Amino acid sequence: MSEAAIPALPRQAVLVEPRHFELRQAAVPHPAPGEILLQVKCALSCGTDLKFYRRGHPLFSFPMPFGHEFSGVVLEVGQGVDAFRPGDELMAAPTAPCGECFFCARGQENLCVQVIDTMVMGAYADLLLLPAHVAARNVFKKPSTLPFEEAALLEPLSCVVHAQAMARPEPSETCMVVGAGAFGLLHVILLKAAGVRTVVVAGRGDARLRWAAEMGADRVIDARREDVASQAGALNGGYGPDLVVEATGQVSGWESAVRCVRRGGRVVFFGGCAAGTSLQLDTRRMHYDSLTLLAPFHYRPADVRRARDLLVERKLGAGRIINERRRLSELPQVFDLLEQGDVLKCAIIP
Ligand SMILES: [Zn+2]
Ligand SMILES: [Zn+2]
Repeated sequence: MSEAAIPALPRQAVLVEPRHFELRQAAVPHPAPGEILLQVKCALSCGTDLKFYRRGHPLFSFPMPFGHEFSGVVLEVGQGVDAFRPGDELMAAPTAPCGECFFCARGQENLCVQVIDTMVMGAYADLLLLPAHVAARNVFKKPSTLPFEEAALLEPLSCVVHAQAMARPEPSETCMVVGAGAFGLLHVILLKAAGVRTVVVAGRGDARLRWAAEMGADRVIDARREDVASQAGALNGGYGPDLVVEATGQVSGWESAVRCVRRGGRVVFFGGCAAGTSLQLDTRRMHYDSLTLLAPFHYRPADVRRARDLLVERKLGAGRIINERRRLSELPQVFDLLEQGDVLKCAIIP
């Protein structure tokens, strides 16, 4: 194995309360049967992490290990792991379904009863232990031609692939993305790769709108200066977009998406909002305009495999989403940068 020696006391970032990290050190763990011990080569910041950072999460309690988008090199495998060995470079999703519950039996593995409870957290670290259920289903060898930081996009890209599998965009359609963050721009990249002729982004911030155009948006709407709904209504020959993907995770974004879509069109509510929020729907518009509202959550193993193939092909240029790189010791600054909105995704390199 060409990798550097394992640190004697590997570090792990732990969120002890909202907005407060500690970089803790502990002895090197050993993988139990079925588990894989990974040396993290790259972890990526995610909008979900920023939500945890600000307000915690109803499904996790403090102190919580942190970070769920990663790639790395195998240090040690537990008994019974035959597919991988020390030195292998891996990419992985941080969850895997049980394959047996009510939802899994119906092909809705994204809703598996254990999928979130057993999620791998703690990728902002030197080392990461992958549990047996994840190692068995959602871990893949990373080809050496794929950089570690692009490989770490597997989880967010799986979510986007899943959403677009529900939305079924057609090349002839006019699609609009509300929100120009990392997820919004991943949607743009994937819509353009699917051959969608017209992709429009509504977002905030000059830099983000410039990036949206660089990533393939045919038109951008500046939500700070323009009326998004009236601009959207002028698209598609004056009918409005066929498909609107909401990627802000704000109720205002959900409302905007419903307002912008054309009669008979589809809305994808991609961004999860804060607990306890609700959306008011105009029932008349919903019914007589025959809207289709879709709410994808998470991903299925089939989406992960598709995202893996897309990353390995390297045709998407998905790595363009990563526009900052920092060391693990600089994690507090990373979250300052994310809050300022100047960073789409930051690669955190131990
Ligand atoms: Zn994520
Ligand atoms: Zn299940």
